[in-house]
Amino acid sequence: MRIFAASLGTETNTFAPIPTDRRAFAHSYYPPGTHPATPTLCSAPIVAAREAASAGGHSLIEGTATWAEPAGLTGQAVYEGLRDEILGQLRAAMPVDVVLFGLHGAMVAHGYDDCEGDLIARAREIAPDAVIGAELDLHAHLSDLMVAKADLIIAFKEFPHTDFLARARELTALCIATAEQRIRPVASLFDCRMIAGYMTSREPGRSFVDRLQAMEGTNGILSITVIHGFQAADVYDVGTKVLVYADGDAAKAARLAEQLGRELIAWGNAGVPVHLKTAEAVAAAIANPAGTIPAAASPATAPSSSPNC
Ligand SMILES: [Zn+2]
Repeated sequence: MRIFAASLGTETNTFAPIPTDRRAFAHSYYPPGTHPATPTLCSAPIVAAREAASAGGHSLIEGTATWAEPAGLTGQAVYEGLRDEILGQLRAAMPVDVVLFGLHGAMVAHGYDDCEGDLIARAREIAPDAVIGAELDLHAHLSDLMVAKADLIIAFKEFPHTDFLARARELTALCIATAEQRIRPVASLFDCRMIAGYMTSREPGRSFVDRLQAMEGTNGILSITVIHGFQAADVYDVGTKVLVYADGDAAKAARLAEQLGRELIAWGNAGVPVHLKTAEAVAAAIANPAGTIPAAASPATAPSSSPNC
């Protein structure tokens, strides 16, 4: 089996005045084959693909991997240049059986509100018969285009993000299983029509994610992704969404996606972490000299949407 893997990511705050230019990608720019052994936030599919290729005797063709720290809109020529660089590498690698992308999901460029959807759609044109998979940060704008053009999309489950390599390994394994026709992922996307998020280091997020993971791999459910959304962006696809892949059963995927999405809606702000004002945080720290401020000691200030990465 021939696998192509590449990575392109940044998290765009469309309200920020600092442009994301080519230099912003330069400090984390790896031409094909030069990515370090250690995965970064959005490049874990490359590392997972190396592992899978080594273990399964597959051929891996690596593309570029690059990342820019979050800032304002990416320049149009910057995005198009990096996109076309990766698509050119894919074109040169054809034929391939599996395409793996490490993306963020909230990259916005001048002229492109949905960079990831654009990239995946163009990859689909180049590799119409390949299995295309993408890993996203859960602070993404998951678009219908991305879901339609990819066979599998898996986002991080944990916030803080501790699981990007684990999710990349899942993505890789499921994409290979799909290419080998051992499974047939069918997607259903439920739009919660809200922007929310939860920490998985505390309740109710911890138990919720534990439940999701217990459901995966059983009863025909292949994968469950909850996109928290990224509030610092004025784009059509912003928001919290649930994406479920069932094995050949669209109705089953749709039922579960809606059920989980309605659970999140019912939480309201209960899952959103509390953010202290500076004076409140200092006062809480002074009152807790032993160390970290426990969540239970946090004043009951109005919750706000969480800052992301
Ligand atoms: Zn994030």
